[in-house]
Amino acid sequence: MSTTEPDLRPFCLSNLAKLKIRPYLGKPFSIGDFTYATNGYILVRVPVRKAYGPPDSPVGVETVYAKLLAEISYFPAPAIDGPLFVMRDTPCPNCQGRGTLHDCPNCSCRCQECAGAGKELDYAVVRLPWAVFDAKYISKIWQLPNPCIAACREKGPMPFRFDGGDGLIMPMRYYDGRRVIDVAVPEYQP
Ligand SMILES: [Zn+2]
Ligand SMILES: [Zn+2]
Repeated sequence: MSTTEPDLRPFCLSNLAKLKIRPYLGKPFSIGDFTYATNGYILVRVPVRKAYGPPDSPVGVETVYAKLLAEISYFPAPAIDGPLFVMRDTPCPNCQGRGTLHDCPNCSCRCQECAGAGKELDYAVVRLPWAVFDAKYISKIWQLPNPCIAACREKGPMPFRFDGGDGLIMPMRYYDGRRVIDVAVPEYQP
């Protein structure tokens, strides 16, 4: 794996309670010509990486991607004004402040709920012209190389792509009490 290939682990399931139900989403997996990583809300796909084998349980990701096959206009990911999260003084409830998932001494499984910080993070939501998204996942997309996004179709996921892959993220329907950051996409014509 070359160093320029995006790290897929931030897109894997990291919530320990949910991992008990779907442990197979805790690491990337390969199906056919692609390697996938998903936590159920966000999914990325890159050309197959031999380090990752087939999923431990059947995952219907290829059907999800049928939505991406139609013609889509992508826009460069717009700049976001304002912090995506505020760090609280309390320990991350998922990793108890360790920043890693397990309490084995050499655990290198970063807790994605707190991005390894060990603190509870209050994430905002990001309102794009077509839907609202959890800033926790938006920040992961924006950190990919040259990210681009596309409008959601109806209430479906938002497609995105980056140098070396693409993906989908689910919009949020309920975000009461969360800080909202409005983000314009100047090139978008509804
Ligand atoms: Zn570990
Ligand atoms: Zn954590």
